[in-house]
Amino acid sequence: MQTVRTLPELRAACTSLRAARGRLVLVPTMGALHDGHRALVETAAQRGAGVIASIFVNPLQFGPAEDLTRYPRDEAGDLTRLAEWGCALAWLPDLATMYPPQHATVIVPGGPAERWEGAARPEHFRGVATVVAMLFNQVRPDAACFGEKDWQQLQVVRRMTTDLCLDVEIIAVPTVRVPDGLALSSRNRYLGPAERATAPLLHAALARAGTELAAGEPAERVLGAARAALGASGFALDYLDLVDGPTLVPLAAPVLGARLIAAARLGAVRLIDNVPLPAPR
Ligand code: AMP
Repeated sequence: MQTVRTLPELRAACTSLRAARGRLVLVPTMGALHDGHRALVETAAQRGAGVIASIFVNPLQFGPAEDLTRYPRDEAGDLTRLAEWGCALAWLPDLATMYPPQHATVIVPGGPAERWEGAARPEHFRGVATVVAMLFNQVRPDAACFGEKDWQQLQVVRRMTTDLCLDVEIIAVPTVRVPDGLALSSRNRYLGPAERATAPLLHAALARAGTELAAGEPAERVLGAARAALGASGFALDYLDLVDGPTLVPLAAPVLGARLIAAARLGAVRLIDNVPLPAPR
């Protein structure tokens, strides 16, 4: 696996990789890689595509009170993992490469960016959309992989790619979980032992609510019970709602493609998760 840190090196490496493999697939990450990222890289590598993984902890998507400086970093471990997983090229730009002092252009996404994470963290999707558009233009991939773990982010990226005619296929990869149901996340390492034991209840509550909705129980009661159960287990809930999958608009009753989404804090750690609705019974 080749590692590059400057734009001229990246351009040259992408040109040779495209000549060798025909198709380039980008996997954008912030590092601290785990088996969720592995699923993205392995999906990207299908049919022999040349996989380019970027590692960049993007300050533009962190709020002033958020954990930018505390965000876990493990460059050497990440590079070993990427090589093992079949990544051909690692793109590790530094801050000055991505945001030189005169950088002054951002993308302000609307639509699916407006609620939930967008309301709780106003700058977040602006940072995500901007960095993803920049990565697309730097790498010029045929496709890019994003995890369903960050469902709203996936929809924001899809919307932006369509709206700005970016000509990159967006590939969604299902959430990778530990056997107890907790979605893998770089932030899970900050859970204390008691919080770690409680954390799987977030997915359990979503899964149960999904089953009840699919069985035809009224959404208001199902969502109310799930919120109450999480509150009683020690979560400080930001939201737990039923939404239209692509637009993130809240729904009063399930429709095809609906999604249950949630964000909740356990101590200092904020967890997000989501599930599709099972097919109606
Ligand atoms: P991050 O490094 O946290 O910015 O995540 C980089 C990419 O990995 C994003 O597309 C995430 O949605 C995806 N990802 C993170 N955790 C998981 C997971 N548990 N399962 C699937 N994809 C994930």
